[in-house]
Amino acid sequence: MSAEKTIFKRIIDKEIPADIVHEDDLCLAFHDVSPQAPTHVLVIPRKEIASLAEVQDEDAALIGHLFAVIRKLAEELGLADGYRTVINCGSDGGQSVGHLHIHLLGGRALTWPPG
Ligand code: 5GP
Repeated sequence: MSAEKTIFKRIIDKEIPADIVHEDDLCLAFHDVSPQAPTHVLVIPRKEIASLAEVQDEDAALIGHLFAVIRKLAEELGLADGYRTVINCGSDGGQSVGHLHIHLLGGRALTWPPG
């Protein structure tokens, strides 16, 4: 892990602002600064995990919690017609921030396949 804080760690530490929609002991969820759909929220663990490739077996409950939060957020945000979750991993996966995050996208019909 690099010594320099990621932008998401700075959001966790409240050093920079974010439009937070959920916060608990394990995670934080906030609106993406550059939304790709009418609803575009990022869910991140407080624990500093660089990417999906760095998830450990001991993180299983944490990862499950992130998806439970997503399900609740999708209900609260009115995504009754469906939504998509995305985890970009590594350079080929298009990951740009080195702190694990799950995109929650909805509010319009999303196309497939991704680019
Ligand atoms: P990735 O490309 O790593 O899967 O996703 C990173 C996401 O973080 C992008 O969708 C980008 O718009 C978002 N992002 C980057 N910096 C910030 C920031 O400072 N605040 C917020 N709210 N989102 C950010």
